[in-house]
Amino acid sequence: MDTARSRAKMSRIRTRRMANRASRPVHIAGPAGRRPAGPHPHRRQHRMRLTVTSAFVLAALSAATATAAECGPEKLGTARTLMLKREGAAYGTNQHSALPLAKGEVVLTFDDGPSPDNTPLVLKALADQCAKATFFMEGQQLRAYPDLARRAIAEGHSAGIHSDTHPHMQALSAQQQLDDLKLSRAAYHAAFGQEPPAYRFPFLEETPTLLEALKQANITVASIDLAINDWIPEDTTAVLADRLRASLDKAGGGIILMHDANGPTAKALPTLLQVLKDKGYKVVHLEWERAK
Ligand SMILES: [Zn+2]
Repeated sequence: MDTARSRAKMSRIRTRRMANRASRPVHIAGPAGRRPAGPHPHRRQHRMRLTVTSAFVLAALSAATATAAECGPEKLGTARTLMLKREGAAYGTNQHSALPLAKGEVVLTFDDGPSPDNTPLVLKALADQCAKATFFMEGQQLRAYPDLARRAIAEGHSAGIHSDTHPHMQALSAQQQLDDLKLSRAAYHAAFGQEPPAYRFPFLEETPTLLEALKQANITVASIDLAINDWIPEDTTAVLADRLRASLDKAGGGIILMHDANGPTAKALPTLLQVLKDKGYKVVHLEWERAK
């Protein structure tokens, strides 16, 4: 965090974002899992092929079993996926209307990455709990660490943008704001091969210029419902967990803002996910339809 950011801390609710894909049904082998008929006694080649096939099926069954064991009911998991349109909408009750979530449902969102120091820990904590999230990435981080950004997507998460260099947009001219948006969109496109579906404002500080530009570009504004104010370097896991419990008790669910670029958050995430599990919250993963 640079000095300018530090000065802005008190007003800052860092961005966040979203979602996990709904738990995939476990593939218990159907017809492919049947034992193949015994090999023809006179055709060694045939028998070998069946043996290979059996080994393959066994390996597949073993993988399915492992998945079922790893993502069982003892894990937080991902209850469902909310597929959103690419449109100039705006969500998050901090500033806008609510996503169509039920009480007790949460959306996990992480801002300011990808960070080589911390994002891998976040990805591991999410994978360990079979939970899917949405990452709002800075353009400058996307340019620096595109492979890490793509890893998040490959692991089933979704991604939007979070400006290019995390400025206070309200302090910039209209042209400077638009230039920052343009750069972040280009960084996202370079990393993922398509336009970003969603945008979270740095510090959640919106401007009329960018709201209009995002609307015109069919990019959804992704605000938040609750946060854990995870930007203080000295925060302990216990402090962050207490903040999460308090925010959940107040909001009852919704879009949670966290920061994958923040060391204490990355370290605390296994505990934070356990808090959600212990309190009975269900994870909803946000995804967007692919660009046409
Ligand atoms: Zn941020």
